[in-house]
Amino acid sequence: MTLVEPGHPRAKSLKIRERLAEGFKAGLVVPEGLAAHGRGEAFDYFLGERTTSHAREAIRAAVAVLLTGESPVISVNGNVAALVPSEVVRLADLTGAKLEVNIYHRSPERERLIAEHLRNHGAKTVLGTEEEYATKIPEIHSDRRKVDKRGIASADVVLVPLEDGDRTEALRKLGKVVIAIDLNPLSRTAQAANITIVDNIVRALPLMIEEAKALAGTPREGLLRIFRRYDNGKILRSSIELMRRRLQELE
Ligand code: ATP
Ligand code: MG
Repeated sequence: MTLVEPGHPRAKSLKIRERLAEGFKAGLVVPEGLAAHGRGEAFDYFLGERTTSHAREAIRAAVAVLLTGESPVISVNGNVAALVPSEVVRLADLTGAKLEVNIYHRSPERERLIAEHLRNHGAKTVLGTEEEYATKIPEIHSDRRKVDKRGIASADVVLVPLEDGDRTEALRKLGKVVIAIDLNPLSRTAQAANITIVDNIVRALPLMIEEAKALAGTPREGLLRIFRRYDNGKILRSSIELMRRRLQELE
């Protein structure tokens, strides 16, 4: 393992890379996942590597929706498992959401490793690995079309951190409320989701956990109001505008 000096200007970002590299060696992350992370990092640079007020607004709406969902699900891929395993387990506990392994580059072995990794971080049940419960979403043309009957297939709300655009669109067509975490506000995922948290998953998850604690006990009507008042188009436009301004300042 390489050691990142704490004083290094990009220490946090290098630490995250280390975690992904370890996840890669452990068989959780695929090479494509490392490249996808790099795309995210570029946008994080434009954001100033911090959580914006727009992201906070999206986080609040996202947690409100998760709490009102009848059968909410958190979809977990290799990068998510490598970066925030304890946090997704905690968020699932606090919101009553189920955890489901769903990966783009599919292999039964990697699915098993991701599920085991989540269980090692406290998850009691992890869906998405048993063939007898597998079903397919015909609208999706990648391996990700395989979903769990008890999970994403029957969910009303799905949190898809670091998602692919096709699947987000397909899940929307099926009438599900889709929450995405994506540093790129221009991606098809960001544009297609009901709620897009434009933030690094490493910063967003702990804040979602705090928000879940803060909103616990809020009457359902109050939670629904938060969602109704939320405007994803506005949040995306503001995020893009913020990046544009920062780039001008940095020139
Ligand atoms: P789309 O298919 O939605 O148009 P894409 O093809 O650009 O998106 P993918 O490769 O499908 O992107 O998925 C990676 C996405 O995840 C990228 O948009 C990237 O910005 C984002 N991403 C990567 N790492 C992180 C992270 N740590 N936190 C938040 N977002 C991230
Ligand atoms: Mg894509």
